[in-house]
Amino acid sequence: VNSIEVRDVRKVFGAGENAFVALDTVSVSIRQNEFFTLLGPSGCGKTTLLRLIAGFDFPTSGQILLYGEDIAGLPPFKRPVNTVFQSYALFPHMSVAENIGFGLEMLGKPKSEIGARVAQMLRLVRMEHLADRKTSQISGGQQQRVALARALAPQPKVLLLDEPLSALDYKLRKEMQLELKRLQHETGITFIFVTHDQEEALAMSDRIAVMSSGRILQVGAPREIYDTPAERFVAEFIGETNFIETDFLGRDGAQARVKLPSGREIRAGLSDGHQPADKTWLVVRPEHAQLTGAEGALLAGTVENVVYLGTDTHFHLRLDHGPRFTVRRQNTSAQAAGHHA
Ligand code: ADP
Ligand code: MG
Repeated sequence: VNSIEVRDVRKVFGAGENAFVALDTVSVSIRQNEFFTLLGPSGCGKTTLLRLIAGFDFPTSGQILLYGEDIAGLPPFKRPVNTVFQSYALFPHMSVAENIGFGLEMLGKPKSEIGARVAQMLRLVRMEHLADRKTSQISGGQQQRVALARALAPQPKVLLLDEPLSALDYKLRKEMQLELKRLQHETGITFIFVTHDQEEALAMSDRIAVMSSGRILQVGAPREIYDTPAERFVAEFIGETNFIETDFLGRDGAQARVKLPSGREIRAGLSDGHQPADKTWLVVRPEHAQLTGAEGALLAGTVENVVYLGTDTHFHLRLDHGPRFTVRRQNTSAQAAGHHA
Protein backbone atom coordinates (compact mmCIF):
# COMPACT_ATOMS: atom_id res chain seq x y z
CA VAL A 1 0.00 0.00 0.00
CA ASN A 2 1.30 3.45 -0.87
CA SER A 3 0.98 5.86 1.98
CA ILE A 4 2.14 8.97 0.12
CA GLU A 5 2.42 9.30 -3.62
CA VAL A 6 4.12 12.31 -5.15
CA ARG A 7 3.30 12.66 -8.84
CA ASP A 8 5.24 14.95 -11.18
CA VAL A 9 5.51 17.67 -8.58
CA ARG A 10 7.20 20.92 -9.56
CA LYS A 11 7.80 23.82 -7.22
CA VAL A 12 8.91 27.13 -8.62
CA PHE A 13 9.63 30.05 -6.28
CA GLY A 14 9.38 33.56 -7.69
CA ALA A 15 8.51 34.44 -11.28
CA GLY A 16 10.04 35.66 -14.52
CA GLU A 17 13.77 36.34 -14.30
CA ASN A 18 13.79 35.49 -10.60
CA ALA A 19 12.04 32.16 -11.01
CA PHE A 20 13.83 29.35 -9.18
CA VAL A 21 12.94 25.69 -9.71
CA ALA A 22 13.23 24.11 -6.25
CA LEU A 23 11.59 20.81 -7.27
CA ASP A 24 11.79 19.65 -10.86
CA THR A 25 9.14 17.04 -11.69
CA VAL A 26 9.59 14.85 -8.64
CA SER A 27 7.75 11.53 -8.48
CA VAL A 28 8.06 9.05 -5.64
CA SER A 29 5.85 6.54 -3.82
CA ILE A 30 6.28 5.93 -0.12
CA ARG A 31 4.87 2.73 1.35
CA GLN A 32 2.85 2.31 4.48
CA ASN A 33 5.01 1.59 7.57
CA GLU A 34 8.14 2.55 5.74
CA PHE A 35 11.15 4.37 7.16
CA PHE A 36 11.79 6.47 4.07
CA THR A 37 14.66 8.94 3.83
CA LEU A 38 15.18 11.97 1.59
CA LEU A 39 18.95 12.35 1.32
CA GLY A 40 20.79 15.13 -0.45
CA PRO A 41 23.04 18.14 0.01
CA SER A 42 21.82 21.40 1.49
CA GLY A 43 19.56 23.30 -0.92
CA CYS A 44 18.48 20.28 -3.02
CA GLY A 45 14.79 20.67 -2.08
CA LYS A 46 14.24 18.27 0.84
CA THR A 47 12.48 20.74 3.12
CA THR A 48 10.43 22.08 0.21
CA LEU A 49 9.10 18.58 -0.52
CA LEU A 50 8.22 18.00 3.16
CA ARG A 51 6.41 21.35 3.31
CA LEU A 52 4.30 20.41 0.29
CA ILE A 53 3.36 17.07 1.90
CA ALA A 54 2.52 18.83 5.19
CA GLY A 55 0.44 21.45 3.35
CA PHE A 56 2.49 24.50 4.46
CA ASP A 57 2.99 25.29 0.78
CA PHE A 58 1.52 24.20 -2.57
CA PRO A 59 3.06 22.57 -5.64
CA THR A 60 3.27 24.74 -8.76
CA SER A 61 2.06 21.65 -10.63
CA GLY A 62 1.63 17.95 -9.95
CA GLN A 63 -0.23 16.02 -7.30
CA ILE A 64 0.27 14.59 -3.83
CA LEU A 65 -1.90 11.62 -2.89
CA LEU A 66 -2.47 10.18 0.56
CA TYR A 67 -3.77 6.61 0.38
CA GLY A 68 -4.81 7.29 -3.19
CA GLU A 69 -6.65 10.58 -2.47
CA ASP A 70 -5.47 13.96 -3.72
CA ILE A 71 -4.89 16.13 -0.62
CA ALA A 72 -4.59 19.48 -2.43
CA GLY A 73 -7.78 20.79 -0.81
CA LEU A 74 -6.84 19.85 2.76
CA PRO A 75 -5.31 22.52 5.02
CA PRO A 76 -2.31 21.37 7.13
CA PHE A 77 -4.30 20.75 10.32
CA LYS A 78 -6.73 18.46 8.50
CA ARG A 79 -3.98 16.28 7.03
CA PRO A 80 -3.15 13.13 9.01
CA VAL A 81 0.46 14.23 8.82
CA ASN A 82 2.67 15.79 11.48
CA THR A 83 6.13 17.34 11.40
CA VAL A 84 9.14 17.30 13.70
CA PHE A 85 11.23 20.35 12.93
CA GLN A 86 14.97 20.66 13.24
CA SER A 87 14.51 23.39 15.86
CA TYR A 88 11.95 21.28 17.86
CA ALA A 89 9.79 24.43 18.26
CA LEU A 90 8.79 23.57 21.86
CA PHE A 91 7.12 26.07 24.20
CA PRO A 92 9.79 26.84 26.83
CA HIS A 93 7.35 28.12 29.48
CA MET A 94 5.25 24.95 29.34
CA SER A 95 5.98 21.61 30.98
CA VAL A 96 6.95 18.49 29.06
CA ALA A 97 3.42 17.07 29.51
CA GLU A 98 1.76 20.34 28.41
CA ASN A 99 3.92 20.45 25.29
CA ILE A 100 2.97 16.90 24.39
CA GLY A 101 -0.73 17.59 24.95
CA PHE A 102 -0.77 20.91 23.10
CA GLY A 103 -1.78 19.56 19.68
CA LEU A 104 -4.57 17.51 21.21
CA GLU A 105 -5.95 20.57 23.03
CA MET A 106 -5.93 22.49 19.75
CA LEU A 107 -7.98 19.66 18.25
CA GLY A 108 -10.48 20.11 21.11
CA LYS A 109 -10.05 16.61 22.53
CA PRO A 110 -11.63 15.95 25.96
CA LYS A 111 -9.36 16.37 29.01
CA SER A 112 -9.48 12.72 30.02
CA GLU A 113 -8.46 11.55 26.57
CA ILE A 114 -5.60 14.07 26.48
CA GLY A 115 -4.36 12.92 29.90
CA ALA A 116 -4.33 9.28 28.86
CA ARG A 117 -2.66 9.96 25.55
CA VAL A 118 0.03 12.19 27.09
CA ALA A 119 0.82 9.48 29.65
CA GLN A 120 1.12 6.94 26.85
CA MET A 121 3.44 9.23 24.87
CA LEU A 122 5.59 9.93 27.96
CA ARG A 123 6.08 6.18 28.34
CA LEU A 124 6.79 5.74 24.63
CA VAL A 125 9.68 8.24 24.69
CA ARG A 126 10.73 7.29 28.24
CA MET A 127 10.16 10.73 29.75
CA GLU A 128 7.64 9.91 32.54
CA HIS A 129 10.05 11.13 35.24
CA LEU A 130 10.28 14.60 33.64
CA ALA A 131 6.57 15.18 32.89
CA ASP A 132 6.34 18.36 35.00
CA ARG A 133 9.70 19.87 34.10
CA LYS A 134 9.70 23.02 31.91
CA THR A 135 11.18 22.24 28.49
CA SER A 136 13.70 25.06 28.99
CA GLN A 137 15.14 22.96 31.84
CA ILE A 138 15.84 19.70 30.03
CA SER A 139 18.73 18.62 27.79
CA GLY A 140 18.81 18.75 23.98
CA GLY A 141 18.28 15.01 23.68
CA GLN A 142 15.30 15.18 26.03
CA GLN A 143 13.83 18.10 24.08
CA GLN A 144 14.14 15.97 20.97
CA ARG A 145 12.10 13.21 22.66
CA VAL A 146 9.42 15.71 23.69
CA ALA A 147 9.20 17.05 20.13
CA LEU A 148 8.73 13.47 18.88
CA ALA A 149 6.09 12.70 21.50
CA ARG A 150 4.19 15.88 20.68
CA ALA A 151 4.20 15.07 16.96
CA LEU A 152 3.09 11.47 17.57
CA ALA A 153 0.36 12.32 20.10
CA PRO A 154 -2.44 13.04 17.57
CA GLN A 155 -1.69 9.67 15.90
CA PRO A 156 -0.73 10.90 12.45
CA LYS A 157 -0.55 8.38 9.62
CA VAL A 158 2.68 9.94 8.40
CA LEU A 159 5.42 11.62 10.43
CA LEU A 160 7.72 14.06 8.65
CA LEU A 161 11.12 14.57 10.27
CA ASP A 162 13.22 17.45 8.94
CA GLU A 163 16.85 16.85 10.00
CA PRO A 164 15.67 16.20 13.57
CA LEU A 165 19.06 14.97 14.82
CA SER A 166 21.35 17.59 13.34
CA ALA A 167 21.55 19.70 16.51
CA LEU A 168 22.72 16.78 18.65
CA ASP A 169 26.33 15.79 19.27
CA TYR A 170 27.69 12.60 17.72
CA LYS A 171 27.05 10.16 20.56
CA LEU A 172 23.55 11.40 21.28
CA ARG A 173 22.75 11.37 17.57
CA LYS A 174 23.72 7.68 17.34
CA GLU A 175 21.52 6.96 20.35
CA MET A 176 18.55 8.87 18.91
CA GLN A 177 18.95 7.06 15.57
CA LEU A 178 18.22 3.78 17.36
CA GLU A 179 15.44 5.45 19.33
CA LEU A 180 13.76 6.71 16.15
CA LYS A 181 13.92 3.24 14.62
CA ARG A 182 12.30 1.83 17.75
CA LEU A 183 9.54 4.48 17.73
CA GLN A 184 8.77 3.83 14.09
CA HIS A 185 8.65 0.10 14.72
CA GLU A 186 6.42 0.38 17.79
CA THR A 187 3.97 2.90 16.34
CA GLY A 188 3.84 1.47 12.80
CA ILE A 189 3.61 5.04 11.44
CA THR A 190 5.19 5.89 8.08
CA PHE A 191 8.28 8.03 8.69
CA ILE A 192 9.64 10.41 6.05
CA PHE A 193 13.03 11.39 7.37
CA VAL A 194 15.23 14.12 5.93
CA THR A 195 19.00 14.20 6.29
CA HIS A 196 22.10 15.35 4.45
CA ASP A 197 24.14 12.71 6.31
CA GLN A 198 24.67 9.64 4.12
CA GLU A 199 25.84 7.44 6.98
CA GLU A 200 22.67 8.24 8.93
CA ALA A 201 20.55 7.48 5.86
CA LEU A 202 22.23 4.11 5.29
CA ALA A 203 21.91 3.14 8.95
CA MET A 204 18.24 4.02 9.42
CA SER A 205 16.25 3.67 6.23
CA ASP A 206 14.16 0.99 4.61
CA ARG A 207 14.57 2.98 1.41
CA ILE A 208 16.40 6.16 0.44
CA ALA A 209 15.67 8.75 -2.24
CA VAL A 210 18.89 10.52 -3.25
CA MET A 211 18.19 14.11 -4.29
CA SER A 212 20.24 16.71 -6.13
CA SER A 213 19.19 20.14 -7.44
CA GLY A 214 15.44 19.56 -7.11
CA ARG A 215 15.46 16.07 -8.59
CA ILE A 216 15.32 12.54 -7.26
CA LEU A 217 18.20 10.64 -8.86
CA GLN A 218 17.64 7.20 -7.37
CA VAL A 219 15.32 5.42 -4.96
CA GLY A 220 16.34 2.16 -3.36
CA ALA A 221 17.28 0.16 -0.28
CA PRO A 222 20.55 1.31 1.34
CA ARG A 223 22.46 -1.65 -0.11
CA GLU A 224 21.16 -1.01 -3.64
CA ILE A 225 22.11 2.65 -3.45
CA TYR A 226 25.57 1.83 -2.15
CA ASP A 227 26.36 -1.17 -4.36
CA THR A 228 24.70 -0.08 -7.61
CA PRO A 229 24.54 3.72 -7.72
CA ALA A 230 22.54 4.80 -10.77
CA GLU A 231 24.58 7.92 -11.42
CA ARG A 232 27.97 9.32 -10.68
CA PHE A 233 26.50 11.86 -8.24
CA VAL A 234 24.91 9.07 -6.18
CA ALA A 235 28.17 7.08 -6.05
CA GLU A 236 30.06 10.20 -5.00
CA PHE A 237 27.56 11.35 -2.39
CA ILE A 238 27.12 7.96 -0.68
CA GLY A 239 30.33 6.77 0.88
CA GLU A 240 33.81 7.16 -0.50
CA THR A 241 34.37 6.22 -4.11
CA ASN A 242 37.16 5.82 -6.63
CA PHE A 243 36.30 6.48 -10.27
CA ILE A 244 38.37 4.87 -13.00
CA GLU A 245 37.73 5.80 -16.60
CA THR A 246 37.70 2.63 -18.71
CA ASP A 247 37.08 1.55 -22.30
CA PHE A 248 33.85 -0.38 -22.65
CA LEU A 249 34.52 -3.55 -24.67
CA GLY A 250 31.11 -5.23 -24.57
CA ARG A 251 28.44 -6.84 -22.48
CA ASP A 252 28.64 -10.25 -20.95
CA GLY A 253 25.15 -10.90 -19.58
CA ALA A 254 24.62 -8.59 -16.59
CA GLN A 255 28.30 -7.66 -16.62
CA ALA A 256 30.47 -5.37 -18.68
CA ARG A 257 33.93 -6.12 -20.04
CA VAL A 258 36.12 -3.07 -19.65
CA LYS A 259 39.76 -2.20 -20.30
CA LEU A 260 41.56 -0.43 -17.46
CA PRO A 261 44.06 2.40 -18.08
CA SER A 262 46.81 -0.16 -17.36
CA GLY A 263 45.65 -2.20 -20.37
CA ARG A 264 44.27 -5.04 -18.24
CA GLU A 265 40.76 -6.27 -19.01
CA ILE A 266 38.22 -7.08 -16.28
CA ARG A 267 34.51 -7.72 -15.85
CA ALA A 268 32.37 -5.42 -13.72
CA GLY A 269 28.70 -5.21 -12.66
CA LEU A 270 26.50 -2.77 -14.56
CA SER A 271 24.11 -0.35 -12.85
CA ASP A 272 20.46 -1.15 -13.53
CA GLY A 273 19.37 -0.06 -16.99
CA HIS A 274 22.73 1.55 -17.66
CA GLN A 275 23.83 1.62 -21.31
CA PRO A 276 27.59 2.19 -21.27
CA ALA A 277 29.30 4.46 -23.79
CA ASP A 278 32.77 3.78 -25.26
CA LYS A 279 34.30 5.44 -22.23
CA THR A 280 32.63 4.39 -19.03
CA TRP A 281 33.25 4.94 -15.34
CA LEU A 282 34.19 2.07 -13.09
CA VAL A 283 33.17 2.70 -9.47
CA VAL A 284 35.51 1.07 -6.95
CA ARG A 285 34.71 1.34 -3.25
CA PRO A 286 37.89 1.73 -1.14
CA GLU A 287 37.07 -1.45 0.84
CA HIS A 288 36.84 -3.48 -2.37
CA ALA A 289 40.39 -2.65 -3.48
CA GLN A 290 43.56 -4.31 -2.20
CA LEU A 291 47.21 -3.38 -2.23
CA THR A 292 49.51 -5.92 -3.87
CA GLY A 293 53.06 -5.92 -5.26
CA ALA A 294 53.67 -4.28 -8.64
CA GLU A 295 53.48 -7.66 -10.33
CA GLY A 296 49.91 -8.79 -11.00
CA ALA A 297 48.39 -5.44 -10.01
CA LEU A 298 45.36 -4.28 -12.04
CA LEU A 299 46.41 -0.66 -11.59
CA ALA A 300 49.83 0.74 -10.76
CA GLY A 301 50.41 3.62 -8.40
CA THR A 302 52.34 5.00 -5.46
CA VAL A 303 51.14 5.29 -1.87
CA GLU A 304 51.37 8.97 -0.92
CA ASN A 305 49.68 8.97 2.44
CA VAL A 306 48.55 6.50 5.13
CA VAL A 307 45.80 7.45 7.59
CA TYR A 308 45.19 5.23 10.61
CA LEU A 309 41.55 5.37 11.79
CA GLY A 310 41.34 2.69 14.48
CA THR A 311 39.03 0.15 12.89
CA ASP A 312 40.66 0.63 9.49
CA THR A 313 43.51 2.30 7.67
CA HIS A 314 43.21 4.41 4.51
CA PHE A 315 45.97 4.33 1.90
CA HIS A 316 45.88 7.33 -0.44
CA LEU A 317 47.55 6.53 -3.75
CA ARG A 318 48.48 8.44 -6.87
CA LEU A 319 47.89 6.17 -9.86
CA ASP A 320 50.53 6.10 -12.61
CA HIS A 321 47.98 7.45 -15.11
CA GLY A 322 47.18 10.46 -12.94
CA PRO A 323 44.16 10.29 -10.64
CA ARG A 324 44.08 9.62 -6.92
CA PHE A 325 42.84 6.34 -5.50
CA THR A 326 41.96 5.26 -1.94
CA VAL A 327 42.26 1.75 -0.53
CA ARG A 328 40.69 0.93 2.82
CA ARG A 329 41.98 -1.97 4.84
CA GLN A 330 40.19 -3.25 7.92
CA ASN A 331 42.60 -3.64 10.82
CA THR A 332 42.95 -6.89 12.70
CA SER A 333 43.87 -6.59 16.37
CA ALA A 334 47.54 -7.28 15.62
CA GLN A 335 47.60 -4.51 13.02
CA ALA A 336 45.70 -2.20 15.33
CA ALA A 337 48.45 -2.72 17.91
CA GLY A 338 50.95 -1.38 15.40
CA HIS A 339 52.56 -4.55 14.07
CA HIS A 340 51.79 -3.97 10.42
CA ALA A 341 54.55 -3.33 7.90
P1 ADP B 1 17.07 21.65 1.63
O1 ADP B 1 16.03 21.42 2.68
O2 ADP B 1 17.34 20.42 0.79
O3 ADP B 1 18.34 22.20 2.17
P2 ADP B 1 15.18 23.61 0.62
O4 ADP B 1 14.02 22.78 0.23
O5 ADP B 1 15.08 24.34 1.91
O6 ADP B 1 16.52 22.73 0.59
O7 ADP B 1 15.47 24.68 -0.49
C1 ADP B 1 15.66 24.31 -1.86
C2 ADP B 1 15.96 25.56 -2.65
O8 ADP B 1 14.80 26.36 -2.74
C3 ADP B 1 17.04 26.41 -2.03
O9 ADP B 1 17.87 26.92 -3.05
C4 ADP B 1 16.28 27.52 -1.36
O10 ADP B 1 17.03 28.69 -1.32
C5 ADP B 1 15.06 27.67 -2.25
N1 ADP B 1 13.88 28.13 -1.50
C6 ADP B 1 13.29 27.48 -0.47
N2 ADP B 1 12.21 28.17 -0.02
C7 ADP B 1 12.14 29.29 -0.78
C8 ADP B 1 11.25 30.43 -0.81
N3 ADP B 1 10.21 30.52 0.04
N4 ADP B 1 11.50 31.38 -1.73
C9 ADP B 1 12.53 31.28 -2.60
N5 ADP B 1 13.39 30.25 -2.62
C10 ADP B 1 13.22 29.26 -1.72
MG1 MG C 1 16.15 21.68 4.75
